[in-house]
Amino acid sequence: MPEGPQVARHARMQGERLIGRRLHADSPNGRSDDVAVLVDGLELVGIEAVGKHLLYDFGDERWLHVHLGRFGKFVAGDMPLREPQGVLRFRLFTDEVWYELRGAIAVEMYDAEARERLMGRIGPNPLDPDADPLAAYAKLAASRAPIGTLMMDQSVIGGIGNIYRSEVLFLNRVHPRTPSHLVPKKTWLAMWRDLERVMADGAKIGKIVTTWPKDREHPKGAVRAGERFYVYHRTGLPCRHCGALIVTATLANRSVFWCADDQIEIRADERDVLKRLGAKTSVAKGPERSRATATKAPTKPPARKAAARASAASRISKRAPLGR
Ligand SMILES: [Zn+2]
Repeated sequence: MPEGPQVARHARMQGERLIGRRLHADSPNGRSDDVAVLVDGLELVGIEAVGKHLLYDFGDERWLHVHLGRFGKFVAGDMPLREPQGVLRFRLFTDEVWYELRGAIAVEMYDAEARERLMGRIGPNPLDPDADPLAAYAKLAASRAPIGTLMMDQSVIGGIGNIYRSEVLFLNRVHPRTPSHLVPKKTWLAMWRDLERVMADGAKIGKIVTTWPKDREHPKGAVRAGERFYVYHRTGLPCRHCGALIVTATLANRSVFWCADDQIEIRADERDVLKRLGAKTSVAKGPERSRATATKAPTKPPARKAAARASAASRISKRAPLGR
């Protein structure tokens, strides 16, 4: 499953071989014939990774937009082209090299307006040195949705994916269900620094590794397959830090993983919990809906809000981050 750093790596590696060249394109399965016709014969000016999106710049406000989705994949080879195998949506090639693209969820042409729309939709990207982590924090601070949900929202953080979500929450001992507005700014900035580090590594080596050598069974040499992550896909295995079991649940439609002991669950205050339960009941039972609406709890006074925030902040930041 491609995350931002792999997409950035595609941009860099394809850029080295394609920028400044006249490209050819075709669509062996016919699904992107219209796009192939437009791209074929154009000279590539640049390639840009925007979150998990790739934009091939052909000048004159023309871009090829590719989104790999969960299953998109590039395969590269030297010319000549090989016989298409299976479902092959799109190929880009020069006299020297070819790239086959399968499983992408978008292969389309963008004009300046479409590109602007995409840029406006994608939040700051930890791979971008100019990105502003506080812009993402502003969105967290304004939301009661679980931090594990907002972290999967590309409009909050660009380029992040499911593996980084679980791993960075673990490294900072934040439970995935913590209401976003209760995550202290200091903790968020530490999470951002971890994202910068692991995502930059990912873009460099083309593989996601979040464990520090000292936390691996084999600290020396190449990282072994089972030792790349702290919690991701380690359900039922012992935490590398404390030995408690790693657990999982579904959040934002994807599995999230955490340590049952290192990541404490911070809940919104009791009234919020009751309100949530009330909301659920009202959906299940028709007649209660109007009552629930009528007795809508007043907005929490600022003092209580600040107290809840301070208590969460101290509970989260008192526990030292892991892995450092
Ligand atoms: Zn643990």
